[in-house]
Amino acid sequence: MNQPPDLSHIQPRERAAILAQALPYIRKFHGKTMVIKYGGNAMTDAALQQDFAEDVVLLKLVGINPVVVHGGGPQIETLLKRLGKEGKFIQGMRVTDEETMEVVEWVLGGQVQQDIVGLINAAGGKAVGLTGRDGAMIRARKLRLTDQKNPEHEHDVGLVGDVVSIDPSVVQALQDDAFIPVVSPIGFGENNESYNINADVVAAKLATVLQAEKLLMLTNIPGVLDKEGKLLTELTPRRIDELVADGTISGGMIPKIAGALDAAKSGVTAVHILDGRVPHALLLEILGDQPFGTMIKSH
Ligand code: ADP
Ligand code: MG
Repeated sequence: MNQPPDLSHIQPRERAAILAQALPYIRKFHGKTMVIKYGGNAMTDAALQQDFAEDVVLLKLVGINPVVVHGGGPQIETLLKRLGKEGKFIQGMRVTDEETMEVVEWVLGGQVQQDIVGLINAAGGKAVGLTGRDGAMIRARKLRLTDQKNPEHEHDVGLVGDVVSIDPSVVQALQDDAFIPVVSPIGFGENNESYNINADVVAAKLATVLQAEKLLMLTNIPGVLDKEGKLLTELTPRRIDELVADGTISGGMIPKIAGALDAAKSGVTAVHILDGRVPHALLLEILGDQPFGTMIKSH
């Protein structure tokens, strides 16, 4: 899947025709903001990472404003293992004690963020890495996670944060200035303490406050699947409730779909969950006319 396709047989004339077909989409999205959730499980190999970085740079060069929010589950897992700790999840949220929080800050705000910044820069863009502390962007508080089945019961997931507010001015300043913001999902609390926030939740909130044209969540699966494992190309709030209630949607898909739905209801024009393992997934969705992945509808 990751071999680049052989394009040598495409004649210059056809190449020009293909490019010209992208024009209506470029015109439509020029000047618009697109929030892209990346990383973690979609960041699977070097060739795909490079495709991703090239897509982001191309979008910027045609006048679209990509904002990247990254996750880092597998990378956090690897370091925790090395330290002899085991990751634990409740309803898709990583239980975060103080030591785990340190690891989260190192891995997300350090390694993963700077890897993505480097990839985008190598592809010819100018990326700037930020955590939620930068520009006082993401205010957070401890997440109160009620049990899905028993709303009386609350789970303690430690230093997992819930977004209180997002001030997007640092992101806006950067994107107006030809930079591509790359945001790590770390927030700060009232007493300046750090919180580990699910990256899908941050991407969704940021898309809302920026009133983004699109929220694209790249993941490691073709989209949201039904009980039989078939791709659901469109989802309404009602269907989502059913799928969560009967357990078809579980684990990391729970915060993802909740964020996606929030964004759709709050005015983000198009919200999609996509397979980040498909080469050039971003361009396929933005400049293509084939439906791809799962589209989340607001009603
Ligand atoms: P990331 O946030 O890095 O994209 P997550 O592991 O947090 O990845 O979330 C994606 C995972 O959600 C999928 O790999 C899959 O295992 C799980 N999942 C649970 N229910 C579903 C569903 N109904 N359809 C698709 N994926 C699902
Ligand atoms: Mg996740």
